[in-house]
Amino acid sequence: MTAPDVPPSDPAPSDPAPSDPAPSDPATRVAELSALIRHHDERYYGLDAPEISDAEYDELMRELRSLEEANPDLASPDSPTQRVGAAVLGATFAPVTHRVPMTSLDNAMDTDELTAWGERIARGLGGVPARYVCELKIDGLAMSLRYERGRFVQAATRGDGRVGEDVTANVATIAGLPHQLGHDAPEVLEVRGEVYLSLASFEALNERAAAAGQPRFANPRNAAAGSLRQKDPRVTASRELSFWCYQLGEVVGGPAFTSHHATLEYLSALGFPVNPEIRVVDDLAGVYAYAQHWQEHRHDLAYEIDGAVAKVDDLAQREVLGFTSRAPRWAIAYKFPPEERTTLLRDIQVSIGRTGRATPFAVLEPVFVGGSTVGMATLHNQDQVRAKDVRPGDTVIVRKAGDVIPEVVGPVLALRPEGLAAWEFPTHCPCSLQSELVRPPGEADTRCVEPSCPFQRDQRIIYFASRGAMDIEGLGERTVFQLSDAGLVRDPADVYSLTVDHLLELDGFARISAEKLVASIAGSRSRPLPRLLTALGIKGLGPSASEAISTAFGTLDAVMAASEADLATTEGVGPTIAASIVRWFSVEANRAMIEKLRSAGVEFGNVEVSRLPQVLAGRAVVVTGTLDGWSRDEAEAAIKARGGKSPGSVSAKTFAVVVGAEPGASKVAKAAQLGIPVLDEAGFTHLLDTGELPSSVATGTAATADTSMDDASPGGEADQTA
Ligand code: NAD
Repeated sequence: MTAPDVPPSDPAPSDPAPSDPAPSDPATRVAELSALIRHHDERYYGLDAPEISDAEYDELMRELRSLEEANPDLASPDSPTQRVGAAVLGATFAPVTHRVPMTSLDNAMDTDELTAWGERIARGLGGVPARYVCELKIDGLAMSLRYERGRFVQAATRGDGRVGEDVTANVATIAGLPHQLGHDAPEVLEVRGEVYLSLASFEALNERAAAAGQPRFANPRNAAAGSLRQKDPRVTASRELSFWCYQLGEVVGGPAFTSHHATLEYLSALGFPVNPEIRVVDDLAGVYAYAQHWQEHRHDLAYEIDGAVAKVDDLAQREVLGFTSRAPRWAIAYKFPPEERTTLLRDIQVSIGRTGRATPFAVLEPVFVGGSTVGMATLHNQDQVRAKDVRPGDTVIVRKAGDVIPEVVGPVLALRPEGLAAWEFPTHCPCSLQSELVRPPGEADTRCVEPSCPFQRDQRIIYFASRGAMDIEGLGERTVFQLSDAGLVRDPADVYSLTVDHLLELDGFARISAEKLVASIAGSRSRPLPRLLTALGIKGLGPSASEAISTAFGTLDAVMAASEADLATTEGVGPTIAASIVRWFSVEANRAMIEKLRSAGVEFGNVEVSRLPQVLAGRAVVVTGTLDGWSRDEAEAAIKARGGKSPGSVSAKTFAVVVGAEPGASKVAKAAQLGIPVLDEAGFTHLLDTGELPSSVATGTAATADTSMDDASPGGEADQTA
C-alpha cells in the first residue's frame, strides 16, 4: 500500500473489481479468481504492499470457495482455497522448513457461520461437548520461535506453511522475548505466535516517516511485516515490535499436556508473553459473547485485532478433529466487520469555514466501511495532502475505525494511472468573490481572508444558530444556504428579521414549519450571555472562556468596553483570546452587527458579577469531605467568586486541599504524596479572607488557621469526585 521501498508489481491479471458480478461460465471465473488471488497474495505476503483491502480479498476468496463447492470438478489441489499464505519469493532471507506445518485459520463472518462450525465440531466429536479457548485475533504476522536446549536459535515466518523465511536476527530485537529458557526447558521447543506493532509504536513510526519525507505505512500489520523484512536488525529494533504467543510447534522432551490452556500457562511460566484477554468458555454461546465483547471493545486495546479466535481446548479432541489442507478443524477465526476498504478518489475539494480556514476534503466513490457508507473524508490541510500524496483518480484506502471520523489513509500506488497529476492547493477561494487564499508563514492552515466571503458568512450564521451557541432549532446548514441564496440573511443578526412569509418562499417550508422556526428564532433572543458570546464565533473563544468572561464582566457592553489587559487576567482566558476579542470588536462591521442584534431585542446579559477581592486568582483549591459551614457547591462557589478554581482532583498544580469530615482518601493521600497544603474549615475561612495559607499550615495533614491539627480522617467514605 504505502509501504516504502516497494516497487509496483505487474498489474493484476485481470481487472474485475471484487464486487463485479461473476461471469456466467464458472470455469472461467474460477481461473480468473485464482489468478487474481495469487496476484494479491504476492502483493500482500511477498511485498507487504496490498492493492485491495482484506475485506475485498476475503470476498474474492469466498466467491472462489463457493464456486468450487458448487462445482467440485473445478477444485484443484493447488487452488488458493487449499493453500496457506504464499511461497517465499526473494532470496533476502534463508528458507526454513517447518517440521510442524504452520497453518492458517478458517473464518466465520457471522453467527450463522460460527454456529455451522459448532455443528461440525459436534458431529466430529460424536456429540461429546467441547470447551473452547477464546483468544484475540491479533493483526500481525505468524512467527515460529525455535529453542534448542533452552536457547533461542531461530525465528521463521509462516511462508506457505511448509517453508518460511529465517528472520532470527530481526526477531531477536523484540523486547520481552526470552533468549534463554530455564535449565529444565525441553530439548526442542517451538513457540508460535503473532509479531505485531502496538498502535503507539505504529504512530511513532509514521511520524518519523513523515518527518523524513517518506510515505506512511497504511496499517500496523503492513508496518510490522515491513519491519521484519529489514536487512539491518538495528532498523527492526527501532520499530519496537511486540509478540503474543498462542501455541506450540515442534516439541521434543518436555511436559505432556492435555489441554490448550495448560500449554499457554506453561508458556507464560517460561517467560513468554501470553495475551491476558484469553478466556476458557464452556460452549459456543461463550465464544459468541467473547467475540461480541471484543467487537465492541476492539479500540480499547493498545494494538489492532481483526477478530476473535475460538479453539477446542482438549488436545485429544483436537486429534480427533484434525486438519484440512490449510487450517485446523478445531479452530475458527470470527472476523470483525472491516474497517478498511479501497475506493476511487473522485476529487479533492476545499471547504471554507467561518474563520476562513480552507480545508481540503476527499470526494470518494461511496464505500461501506466501519458500519456506514462514506462518501467524503477530511484531508485536514495542505501538508496532509502532500504527505499522503493522494491525487484525484487514485485508488485510496479509506479507514473508519469505531467512532473515529473516516480517514483517507493513502493511495494504492501500484494502481495509480500513469501520468496522474499531483493535486495543487487552490490559490483562490471557491466562492463567487474568488479572493486569494493565503497561507501565513509558519502556519499549517490556508485561509480566505476576505471578510465578505459568502462562504465564511454562511458558516458564521450556521455556527451562530448551532446547538452549543444560540441553539435555534430548525436553522441548519441547508436552510442557511437557502436563506443566503435568496438574499434574506447577510449576517447572524438578519436572522431576527425573518418572517413566516419569508420562509414560505423557500423550498421545503410549509406554514407549520415556518412558524416553528420563527418561534425558535424569537426564543433565542433570551439566551444567556455565555451562549451569545460563543455564538459570535470569535477565534479562540469557546464555551468555557465565554462562561468565564460572562462571570467576570456581566454584560456584552462591559465585555466590549473591557481592555485587553482586563480580559487577559480573567481565569481561563489568557492573552491570545483577549487579543482576539479586542480585535473582533474593533472591526466596524462586527460592531454594526452587534447593534443590529441589540435593535432586534437580543438580550446582552445581566450576569451577577463578583465584586469580591480576587484573592485566589489563578489558584486551584480542591474541597473534599463535608464542611459544617458550607455545602460542597457553596464552598466551590466561594473559591470561584474570589477568582480561584475548584477542580475535582488533586494534582501538582493544586494550591491547597480543604479537608472536611469523611474526606476522599485518595485526595488526602495524593496531597500528602505531592506535599500540597491541607486546610481544615478554619484554615479555609482564612484562605478565603486573605488569599494566604494559615501561618502553620501542614502539607498532607489538615491545618487550622492557628495550629496544625492531625485529626483529618483519610479513611473516611469513598471519594465521590476523585
Ligand atoms: P487469517 O489472517 O485469516 O488467519 C490466520 C492467521 O491469524 C494465523 O496465521 C496467525 O498469523 C493469525 N492469528 C492472530 N491471532 C491468532 C491466534 N490467537 N491464534 C491463531 N492465529 C492467530 O489467515 P491468513 O492465512 O494469515 O491470511 C488470510 C488473510 O490475510 C485474509 O483473510 C486477508 O484478510 C489477508 N490477506 C489480504 C490480502 C490483500 O490483498 N489485502 C492478501 C492476502 C491475504
